[in-house]
Amino acid sequence: MNFDLTPEQREIWLWAKEFADKEIAPRVEENDHKAEFDFDLLKKIGGQGFFGAILPEKYGGQGIDHIAYALMTEEIARVCSSTRTLFSVQISLVEKPILHYGTEAQKEKYLPKMATGEMIGCFGLTEPGAGSDAVNQATTCKQDGDYWILNGQKTWISNGSIADVAIVMAQADSSKGSRGICAFLVDTKTEGFSARYIKPKLGLHSSDTSELFLDNVRVHKDQMLGGYGEGFKVAMYSLDQGRFSVAAGAVGVIQGCLDISTQYAMEREAFDQKIGEFQMVQQMIAEMSMNAEAGRLLVLRAADKKDKGVRNTRETSMAKLFCGDMAQKAAYNAVQIFGGYGFSEEYPAARYYRDARVLTLYEGTSQIHNLILAQDELGIRPANGKNAPSNPVDRLSSQELLSV
Ligand SMILES: Cc1cc2nc3c(=O)[nH]c(=O)nc-3n(C[C@H](O)[C@H](O)[C@H](O)COP(=O)(O)OP(=O)(O)OC[C@H]3O[C@@H](n4cnc5c(N)ncnc54)[C@H](O)[C@@H]3O)c2cc1C
Repeated sequence: MNFDLTPEQREIWLWAKEFADKEIAPRVEENDHKAEFDFDLLKKIGGQGFFGAILPEKYGGQGIDHIAYALMTEEIARVCSSTRTLFSVQISLVEKPILHYGTEAQKEKYLPKMATGEMIGCFGLTEPGAGSDAVNQATTCKQDGDYWILNGQKTWISNGSIADVAIVMAQADSSKGSRGICAFLVDTKTEGFSARYIKPKLGLHSSDTSELFLDNVRVHKDQMLGGYGEGFKVAMYSLDQGRFSVAAGAVGVIQGCLDISTQYAMEREAFDQKIGEFQMVQQMIAEMSMNAEAGRLLVLRAADKKDKGVRNTRETSMAKLFCGDMAQKAAYNAVQIFGGYGFSEEYPAARYYRDARVLTLYEGTSQIHNLILAQDELGIRPANGKNAPSNPVDRLSSQELLSV
């Protein structure tokens, strides 16, 4: 087991850290107050090549590993969860499934432009009546010669209004349940496709969250992602990637809360001393420090498994659950340490508190991740497949043979 970063991983981490501090941090407060998507920042991120982070060079990417990707994601989230959401969705929920399930023509059409940010993607699984119960898709697809006709509605779709391409899950044959679901790459300029920005919302003010409407949208059969009936598999694969980046983002939130709390605690005075000298304040700081580190280790372990090509649904779910829950605690305690000023929008603690809330909701609620982990432990549904080791020591190793 090796806890050291390679020189390349360290360099990428520092690259992201510098960009986050210099380019994202100065805009965060204004973007949050205006509650608008920052297209200028999007261009800057694209210009840096960030969106191509994990794509192979062949498709205009940097070809970095998941450890470096996790560290980049953490750094972005440390300063802004809205920007992190844009980054995660583009890479984990759209580029990764295209890379894994796409035909060569689909990869060539989308990935190089997504790597530069010239094209933005969104992932449309959730519907008004299908969130945790994602199989219950009401959006339909019907074949008509060389085309499929899509009808339905999606909701809570990140990047939905700004996207050039949407991955849309739709039911072809409801009698087949999950095996009737197909995934499509829908160009958002196609007739019948429209989006509506959802505002106001509790947090992630400068992240575009939208409803999607599909009214007899004609999509060529070459735009199906994966085979007929493989849409649910595509969705579950995508969520394994998306959850990973949400977990890394949650570590960034904990670290961000720790940073602002330690600074404030050594500035603010009460009873003639720095509040950071009070042991009860120190306890909150110690907890944030411990949870940032424990969360980071869980994320990096899932990353290591992804890089080795072994099944990691369990490790990804554990990282998402732990980091999402601990980010709530960190944000709650950051507000506590700021006292009354924590309740003011003029200080960053309030934004961390609002933005952290979604981390236990999207990409599987905490209840759903508890189910995944408990069913795995009980042998009801092994998260990494039935041949995955169940003893704790072998689970620590990455030698499981089942590939993703
Ligand atoms: C800001 C934001 C961005 C989002 N971005 C996207 C996106 O880009 N693409 C996308 O497809 N979706 C996206 N979502 C949707 C998100 O993934 C869903 O909201 C989430 O999966 C929960 O679904 P739901 O809202 O329908 O809640 P429900 O499924 O109705 O759940 C409500 C409550 O019931 C609990 N519950 C449900 N089933 C069970 C069960 N079996 N056991 C125990 N408890 C249960 C849940 O844990 C929750 O507490 C986003 C959501 C938000 C808020």
